[in-house]
Amino acid sequence: MKELAKKRDKAFSSFAPGCWEGVEPAQWNDWKWQMRNRIVSLEQLESLVELTSEEREGTMLAGKKLALGITPHFFNLIDRKNPDCPIRRQVIPRVEEGLVGAGELADPCGEDAHMPVPGLVHRYPDRVLFLLTDRCASYCRYCTRSRLVSGAGEQELTTDFEEAFAYLEKHEEIRDVLFSGGDALLLSDEKLDAILERTRAIPHIEFLRIGTRVPIFLPQRITPQLCAMLKKHHPLWMSVHTNHPRELTVEVKAALEMLADHGIPLGNQSVLLRGVNNDLETMGCLVHKLLMCRVRPYYLYQCDLIHGSAHLRTTIREGLEIIKGLRGFTSGYAVPQYVVDAPGGGGKIPLNPDFVFAEEDGFLRMLNYEGKPYSYPL
Ligand SMILES: *Cc1c(COP(=O)(O)O)cnc(C)c1O
Repeated sequence: MKELAKKRDKAFSSFAPGCWEGVEPAQWNDWKWQMRNRIVSLEQLESLVELTSEEREGTMLAGKKLALGITPHFFNLIDRKNPDCPIRRQVIPRVEEGLVGAGELADPCGEDAHMPVPGLVHRYPDRVLFLLTDRCASYCRYCTRSRLVSGAGEQELTTDFEEAFAYLEKHEEIRDVLFSGGDALLLSDEKLDAILERTRAIPHIEFLRIGTRVPIFLPQRITPQLCAMLKKHHPLWMSVHTNHPRELTVEVKAALEMLADHGIPLGNQSVLLRGVNNDLETMGCLVHKLLMCRVRPYYLYQCDLIHGSAHLRTTIREGLEIIKGLRGFTSGYAVPQYVVDAPGGGGKIPLNPDFVFAEEDGFLRMLNYEGKPYSYPL
């Protein structure tokens, strides 16, 4: 059973149409159909899968915190017979989300304090995060921005586009704009085109990027028209968000390849999650599949201290062990940088296994990937 599951996760499989048997391919492949047919209520969810009591209670809470939303494409990846399925843990609410653990915060990365304009986070010297929408194709239960997204949380995202563009124009030190949200790829081609064009017209802005999970949750959104529009705004990079190898399906691979074929360099951001990807074998399989999709693993995030995420969090030690198990043992391109987004707004801090262990007698003492000691003159 377990061996079979592993084989399926390692291969590029298709799970469509799964629970939506009988739906015409033209509808299934239409991203607007996928959005209209998302699972958003307890009734819908229970008609498709037998929930545990923890999940049923969690789903009843979700409307007050972070809405339930799962695209049919992504729902089909769930192993409905397995209550511990790693896909299921990411998108089906659980009652533990209602608990606030020690040190947990509503705004764990301290973004609100770094918003000079509503919707624009300016934390680092030369780059900004621009929040274009509060909606996503599906909602990750550990979302760092759950206070703002889905329309159910305690705050509302009120991006002021005119003020944001005025800020970008005035601040000549900004050379890099990262569009996120919510998910920027849920905007129409026209709206996104207008935003990218307006940003590109600012002479000091060199580099544009989009942070999105749409290629994973809603690969149907990646159309030739969208790619042709994005291509006009180069250099434009994209960071996708994949946590488990099963997410890299045949459809997702094709979407990522289409983006790459339009000259968009692709990175991946994963979140280290308990019961999802906190073991070396799963992470190794994920990073290898990503390279086959022409995606470079960029960051592995320690799970933010967001309210109600303790059941998904691991220790930093576990994350360091996974990086230690990858570094040197596989392609350097396959190894992401492990980071913690410092609580309180310190930004991303790299976490690395200790390869340097001493400075003595004019030498730096180091260990190689196999744990053997070496020296280099200081
Ligand atoms: C992550 C992040 C960025 C981008 O950081 P990079 O390390 O350059 O990828 C920019 N602004 C904010 C607020 C961020 O959280």
